[in-house]
Amino acid sequence: MRDITHFIDGAAVAGTSGRFSEIFNPNTGEVAARVALASLGEVNAAVASAVRAQQTWALVNPQRRARVMFDFKRLVELNMNGLAEMLSSEHGKVVADSKGDIQRGLEVIEFACGIPHALKGEYTEGAGPGIDVYSMRQPLGVAAGITPFNFPAMIPMWMFGIAIAVGNTFILKPSEKDPSVPIRLAELMMEAGAPKGVLNVIQGDKVAVDAILDHPDIKAVSFVGSSDIAHYVYSHGTAAGKRVQAMGGAKNHGIVMADADIDQAVKDISGAAFGSAGERCMALPVVVPVGEKTAEIFREKMLAEIETLKVGVSTDAAAQYGPVVTAAHRRKIADYIQLGVDEGAELLVDGRGFQLQGFEKGFFIGPSMFDHVKPAMRTYQEEIFGPVLQMVRAETFEEAVALPSQHQYGNGVAIFTRNGRAAREFAAQVQVGMVGINVPIPVPVAYHSFGGWKRSAFGDANQHGMEGVRFYTKVKTITARWPEGAVEDSAFVIPTMG
Ligand code: NAD
Repeated sequence: MRDITHFIDGAAVAGTSGRFSEIFNPNTGEVAARVALASLGEVNAAVASAVRAQQTWALVNPQRRARVMFDFKRLVELNMNGLAEMLSSEHGKVVADSKGDIQRGLEVIEFACGIPHALKGEYTEGAGPGIDVYSMRQPLGVAAGITPFNFPAMIPMWMFGIAIAVGNTFILKPSEKDPSVPIRLAELMMEAGAPKGVLNVIQGDKVAVDAILDHPDIKAVSFVGSSDIAHYVYSHGTAAGKRVQAMGGAKNHGIVMADADIDQAVKDISGAAFGSAGERCMALPVVVPVGEKTAEIFREKMLAEIETLKVGVSTDAAAQYGPVVTAAHRRKIADYIQLGVDEGAELLVDGRGFQLQGFEKGFFIGPSMFDHVKPAMRTYQEEIFGPVLQMVRAETFEEAVALPSQHQYGNGVAIFTRNGRAAREFAAQVQVGMVGINVPIPVPVAYHSFGGWKRSAFGDANQHGMEGVRFYTKVKTITARWPEGAVEDSAFVIPTMG
């Protein structure tokens, strides 16, 4: 069986813990490989390598660091097909989606190619008599990233793309469910000219995460995953004196106003709810039609749309989505569907019985749809993370805005309308971090920044864009004068410029 290793100090390292986790092919349900789970020893070795590398990497000028990013981007593009197939074979998403996963990560690398501009400091000439003040952004040292299974290329690149470009070295702890692509990205980073130790990959579980949170030489931790773990990482990391950003789960709503282009909204919401089997933190699993008539029209059209969906193996170019990541996750989704029925929601389409001929052991689940879901139901309050669309009916615009605003999660939200004033009011009022107006998956472009509100994100800094640059750097402000002639008396009171 294939063993997936760590990547420390520029080389594959098998690890000594004797602990492994199985990697499945979600299409067939077979075990395809096993991944080594780190012990403290591997984490310490990776940090030691990163500390060594950082001392020289921070002195490489920003333009040269940007060139490494440029070469990395080119290498990833050259390897796109192989990487996408590798990603699909462990995650289960269709190959076109895997390419999207890699491409959205590369857009952050493109931003990182312009890092000299982003790192320019500020300067005030003559802040006082003969006194100039300027500021600079310096790297933190060693940073770490802990990532979820659902975007094994994009989310690591969100993090290490910026962290490394600004002069840090990085330790990536990817999900133990699909760890092959992150290792390949680290190899390509070395091929692109990053010195060994600049990007290390530690495979593992809670043991590795705790070792990262406790290690005094790691100065910042970026986390993306489910909310309970995000909160754990945020509270432990900050208690250990680290800078932490921790993104959590989501339950994104799509508000459909009576004046919306309903056919377009149905297409958009179908893609956002069922694409990638609903395993996206920016999926749209809740639809809120405003008014009974809108609800009835939407329901009828969405049921027809679901009929057309094709679920297939991840290599099937005609399939809209593939299997979910593990059998355990499939069970969890099926349990939520049962809970929805028990709670009294109306199950219009039940995906639990779906089987793909020839792939009966694969982790497939068909699309499901509920109507008459109520805010008090657990299936509404919690994240299902599967291909399940829940319809919550609202009578008025105010009621519709209140639903996502009062939900425990606040990652993304979308409104479908032809009314610019309603859309503007919605964007201003809604208590959610990322808003789409007739855009179902409003993932911000790389030079803006990504981040939710409430239990969807702990900490203040968003991912990538200038927020990412700020997260991975610290500001130093210098006040300078070059006195001439006689020695001046120094005052013992707080100096002022006036
Ligand atoms: P997860 O929380 O199970 O795992 C995330 C990371 O935490 C993994 O690297 C995992 O190894 C580690 N981990 C798991 N259990 C741990 C524990 N007990 N202690 C310490 N570390 C632990 O999440 P997942 O299932 O891989 O990913 C899906 C979740 O991620 C969903 O909730 C989804 O909404 C969320 N997500 C959020 C965003 C965002 O930006 N807000 C983006 C993508 C995914």
